[in-house]
Amino acid sequence: MRYSRYFLPTLREVPADAEVVSHKLMLRAGMIRRVAAGIYDVLPLGLRVVRKVENIIREEMDRAGAHEVFLPSIQPAELWEETDRWNFYGKELLRIRDRHNREFCYGPTHEEVITDLVRREVRSYRQLPLNLYQIQTKFRDEIRPRFGLMRGREFTMKDAYSFDSDRKGAEDTYRAMYDAYTAIFTRCGLDFRSVEADTGKIGGSLSHEFMVLADTGEDRVVSCHLCDYAANLEMAAVPPQGKVDTSEPEGSGPDRVERPKNVATPGKRTVEEVTAFLGVRPQDLLKTIIMSGDQGSIGVLVRGDHEVNPVKVRRLVEDETLELAEPETVEGVTGAPIGFAGPMGLEIPLYADNAVSHMRDFVTGGNAMDVHTTGMNISDFEVKVFDDLREAREGDPCPRCGGTLTFLRGIEVGHIFYLGTKYSEAMGAHFLDEKGREKVIEMGCFGIGVGRTVAAAIEQNHDEKGIVWPVPLAPFSVSLLCLDPSAPEVLNASEKLYDDLTASGVEVLYDDREERAGVKFNDADLIGNPARVTVGKRGLQEGMAEIRLRGTGEERKIPLDEVVAAVREVLGQA
Ligand code: ATP
Ligand code: MG
Repeated sequence: MRYSRYFLPTLREVPADAEVVSHKLMLRAGMIRRVAAGIYDVLPLGLRVVRKVENIIREEMDRAGAHEVFLPSIQPAELWEETDRWNFYGKELLRIRDRHNREFCYGPTHEEVITDLVRREVRSYRQLPLNLYQIQTKFRDEIRPRFGLMRGREFTMKDAYSFDSDRKGAEDTYRAMYDAYTAIFTRCGLDFRSVEADTGKIGGSLSHEFMVLADTGEDRVVSCHLCDYAANLEMAAVPPQGKVDTSEPEGSGPDRVERPKNVATPGKRTVEEVTAFLGVRPQDLLKTIIMSGDQGSIGVLVRGDHEVNPVKVRRLVEDETLELAEPETVEGVTGAPIGFAGPMGLEIPLYADNAVSHMRDFVTGGNAMDVHTTGMNISDFEVKVFDDLREAREGDPCPRCGGTLTFLRGIEVGHIFYLGTKYSEAMGAHFLDEKGREKVIEMGCFGIGVGRTVAAAIEQNHDEKGIVWPVPLAPFSVSLLCLDPSAPEVLNASEKLYDDLTASGVEVLYDDREERAGVKFNDADLIGNPARVTVGKRGLQEGMAEIRLRGTGEERKIPLDEVVAAVREVLGQA
C-alpha cells in the first residue's frame, strides 16, 4: 500500500477525550474516529487489524465444525417476549418501532433469533449437534461507553450458538469451544488466561471468560500460585474458615450487663473513621450494606475489613436486579443516613458472610444518626443465611488447593457459556430422539468481542512511541520508508523493494510521501508494524537498506538484494 494514496490520518497530538492508551493510539494511528458516544468509524488501517482477528476466528470456528450464518441486527420484540428478556434486559436494549408501530430491538445478542431458526428447522436427533456462528454488529446501550472500541455501544461480536441432543454432548461442545478459543487467542499472539466466570444476564451454569492480561484491564482476575485455578474476582470463591459458629462467647450471655451499648460517633461513617475513633480494629466492626432489587431490600453483613461481592449476593438471593440501595432507601430501612446502618431491629432479611459467624464483641452501626453500637454478638439479631458473600482478597487461600491467591488485571475478550435448556425450553426448541421421544435441545453460547480484542492487543503491546503489534494482528508486516523520494536513485531502489516484497507475499505499507524523515519514523513507530525497512541516500551508497524490529529495536544493515529474505525471516515466514 502506498502511504501517499492511503487514507491514514495520523495525529501528533494526544486526543483529549481518550482515557486509555489503546483508545489514544487507535485515534492517533488513524484506525478509528468517533461519531457519537460509543459509536465509531473504523478506518482502513483499523479495518485491516479487525479483519485479521476475524479471519483467525473464522478459521478456528470452521475447524471446530461450526457453520457461519448472518442473522438480522433488528429483531422483533415478540421473540424477546417469549424468553421474558424484553422485560429483563433493561435499558441496554435499544428498542425501536417501525412505521406500523411494531416493536423491535437492535440485537445486543442473538439467542432468541437463533433459537427461533433452529426450532423451525431441526426436527430430529440426526440434525444434531449443530453449532452456528456469525460475526456481526451488536448494539448495547451501555451506561458508560468508553475506551473506544473496548466498550462501545455499537460493536462487532463473533457469537456462536450450539445445539446438542443431551447434556453430555453440550459439554463436549463446550470443551471444543474452549479449545477453539484457546487456539484463537494464542494465534492472535496475545498473553491471556481463561477464568471461571459469572453467567449474568445470559443465564446458564458453566462459564469461562478469556482475559487478555493488561495492567489497565477493567476486570480483576484471581489466580492460584500453586494450581491452575483462575477466576474472575466476581466469581472467586472464598472457602469458609471452619464451620459457621454462632455460639455465645463465654461470659457474654444474656446476663452480661454491659452489652450491647450505644455510643456517640459524631460524623464517623467509614470503617476507617469509626475504628480510629473507637480504637478498634477494622475486623472488629460489622458492615451492614443495604441492597435493593425487584424483590425488595435486604441487608448484607460483612466484616469491616472485607468487601461485599454483589454477584455472590445476587446469586444467593436469586435476584439479578439487586444493587446498592439509594440513600433514601437506606434511610427508610434503617432510620439513619448512610454510614450508620446496623443489623439490630431491621425488618428486612439479613444475609451474612461466613466470616461474620466468627465475630464476637463487635461494633455495628446504631441505626441512628451519629450512633454506633459496641459489644454486639451474632445472637443479637437474626441472620437468614450465612454464606460466602465477600470478595476474595490477595493472599486468601485457593478454593481448590489451599494455595495462595494472587491478583491480575485483564480485559474480557471472550466469554463461553453452557446454557442448558433455558432458551430452548422457553421457545419450544424440541427434537425427536432415536426412539421418537420429544426432547428439549441443550444449548451453549460463545462470544468474542472483535474490536475489544484489537484494543486489548494494543493495551498489552505498546510503548511510549506507539503500538507494537503482535505479528499475526499487524495491519502490515513491514513499513517501508523511502527517506528521500526526490532523489531518483533512492526512489528507484525503494520502488523495487516495494515490488519485490509485495510479490513475495509480504504486506507492505510503503511510505513514499514527500515528508521529512522524522515524520516517517514517528508514523512508523506509531502504527507499529513489526518490521521497518528504510532506504536512504547514505546507506544506498554502500548498496544497503536498514531493517529494524519494532518490538526489540534491533537494527541491522542488509544488502538491497537480501532484504526480502531478511524480512521474511524476521517475520517467521522464512
Ligand atoms: P462486559 O461484562 O464487559 O460488559 P459482557 O459479559 O456483557 O461483557 P458478553 O455478553 O459475554 O459480554 O459478550 C461477549 C463478548 O463481547 C465479551 O466477551 C466482549 O469481548 C464483547 N463485548 C461485550 N460488550 C461489549 C462492548 N460494549 N463493547 C465491545 N465489546 C463488547
Ligand atoms: Mg456487558
